[in-house]
Amino acid sequence: MTGSARIKRILVLGGTAEARQLTERLAGRERLAVTLSLAGRTAQPLPQAVPVRIGGFGGSEGLARYLRDERIDALIDATHPYAAAISANAASAAEIARVPLLALRRPPWTREHGDIWVEAATVADAVEALGKAPRRVFLALGRKEIEPFAAAPQHVYLVRSVDPVDPPLAVPHAIYVTARGPFTEKEDHALLERHRIETIVAKNSGGDATYGKLRAARALRLPVIVLKRPALPEVPSVATVEEVLAWLDHAIAPSTARGV
Ligand code: NAP
Repeated sequence: MTGSARIKRILVLGGTAEARQLTERLAGRERLAVTLSLAGRTAQPLPQAVPVRIGGFGGSEGLARYLRDERIDALIDATHPYAAAISANAASAAEIARVPLLALRRPPWTREHGDIWVEAATVADAVEALGKAPRRVFLALGRKEIEPFAAAPQHVYLVRSVDPVDPPLAVPHAIYVTARGPFTEKEDHALLERHRIETIVAKNSGGDATYGKLRAARALRLPVIVLKRPALPEVPSVATVEEVLAWLDHAIAPSTARGV
């Protein structure tokens, strides 16, 4: 077997809808061995189209070791734009192990006519921005991120998550909804109305999967406290799954594209 015909091993750092779409598209390719890496945040992840490994690598050194041990030919960082630690680890591990890296990064949403957005640099700032008067607040954040809201127990919080929030938020009034997205604008509109929500706290995640709540907030004229995106390492990046496929086809594995 020649060098170029050798099976190329791709590691996709995932946990997002895009990582899922990407691995579904790559699953049928010959001469590609794709592994999807998940942090292990959800108890029962959805079935995936490619083999999955779960759990942290042990920092950038651990990830670099994995890249070398598994003879990975290309690393795709398709994690969430707020997952800054793993993206930083990916950048340094790729450098240490000399593995080509491409980041798949969703462009942020931009404010549209009718949006009432307040930017918050940190979760603590978002807590502050809610103010002293009691409000009914939809926390559209991860389970790990809501703990600081315990500092403002006067509000009623609505929390939606895939797995139950355990331990629950240390406040007297919290409503928990367990559900797995994506959610449509209609579903989010109904949720916000049902719980008489007055304010939303959300990340500027970009993409379609979680945009419904912002459309619903616009229609209901609700203010949204939007958490600022974290700084991410400067690495080659693209915005779409199609562009990742093109990069893999032409830059990394020219012989693997189906029918090419
Ligand atoms: P993070 O703060 O950047 O990562 C914390 C640690 O979790 C990393 O240092 C790494 O541990 C481990 N980790 C994260 N993503 C991993 C992956 N895909 N595979 C293996 N280990 C991973 O990220 P996070 O906020 O915990 O997010 C975790 C996962 O949830 C990511 O895959 C992300 O795409 C997804 N997600 C995050 C958000 C969000 O807003 N943060 C939203 C939706 C989905 P080691 O250092 O030990 O390797």
